[in-house]
Amino acid sequence: MQGEFGCTLFLPGSADGRPASVTIRANGFSVKHEGGSFEIPFHQVQASKGGYGDSMLILSGPGPQGPVSMYFADRGVVSGLSGYRLSPLLASQLSGSGGGGKAKWVLLVLLVLAGIGYGLYWVGAWGFGKAVDLAVEHVPPEWEVELGKQAATETLTQQRVCGNVAVNGTVNDIGNRLVAALDAPPYTFRFKIVDSPDVNAFALPGGYVFVNYGLLQKAATPDEVAGVMAHEIQHALLRHGLRNVVGRASIAIIVGLAVGDVQGVGGLAAGLAGELAALSFSREQEEEADRLGLDLVYRAKFAPGGMPDFFVKMKDEEEKRGIALPSFLSTHPDTDARIEALKAEITRRGTGSPEPLARDWAVSIAACDPIPLSDPDAEAGKAESP
Ligand SMILES: [Zn+2]
Repeated sequence: MQGEFGCTLFLPGSADGRPASVTIRANGFSVKHEGGSFEIPFHQVQASKGGYGDSMLILSGPGPQGPVSMYFADRGVVSGLSGYRLSPLLASQLSGSGGGGKAKWVLLVLLVLAGIGYGLYWVGAWGFGKAVDLAVEHVPPEWEVELGKQAATETLTQQRVCGNVAVNGTVNDIGNRLVAALDAPPYTFRFKIVDSPDVNAFALPGGYVFVNYGLLQKAATPDEVAGVMAHEIQHALLRHGLRNVVGRASIAIIVGLAVGDVQGVGGLAAGLAGELAALSFSREQEEEADRLGLDLVYRAKFAPGGMPDFFVKMKDEEEKRGIALPSFLSTHPDTDARIEALKAEITRRGTGSPEPLARDWAVSIAACDPIPLSDPDAEAGKAESP
């Protein structure tokens, strides 16, 4: 038998899912979307679960321009495939992709709503936190990238980024060395330098990491910058910003997401992306980003002391000159405890085996040459002169 199934298709180089229809043929899938069509043979397809509560079936494989993923809210495609000659791998992946996650979800959300409805604040608050955790856990990385990209575009339209080749090369060297030490990051990290004198850095969901030029000027070594960037990279990987945004979403959006509404993340992004950069993290989130950030610094062979050194420097400035702490340290009055925790871990673990960055620090960060940020995915400093 032949069947046609609707899905959300993610193409390479685009974080935007688009509607597509998939037809099962004798030897593979025929995929049709607004921009064209292509075929993927069964033996090149992998199946997995994803989406909220693992309620969706994801089929991935090579498209004409690179890897593609298809998200199916309806598992009808699995029964549609019965009787076809599939590879043993795909057959076993499909048999393991049965439902179940969705029912658990609906139950949980109903419980939360009941708790709120009956004025049981505790049940409501507890259940709401759990619902948000579960929702965040199952957001596909593609949607995370979409949210981060929207936020990057919204928050940075008023700002400019550094176009200078040397400073971009240096920050990318540091960032790429940190990312290379990660185990299979779910998305591509992108590093940009914002033309701002404020000492700050932030990460958006989906791997968009921004470092202010003012922070580079304040840092004495690449290791100090590596410490802050590692902290920000861990915020992104731990989905802290995403969790904060989902936690502020309306119950309607969360219920929609819980029952596998693909449009839910779109609604979330449109309403809250702009707030992402402004939201602050909890003390627990900061401590977690510090701890895992320091571990990443060790693995990427930067000098671990750079991280607490930079934190101490910022704190001194605050105390002596009244300069506000950067947001990555603004868990005041717990900054001291965070610095002490980092120092204790370095005492325990030793100095590691740091390898210096093959660049002259003062020279590499000497100029910013600001340019407008047109596309958060564009590589600043690569295409522009000088
Ligand atoms: Zn932080």
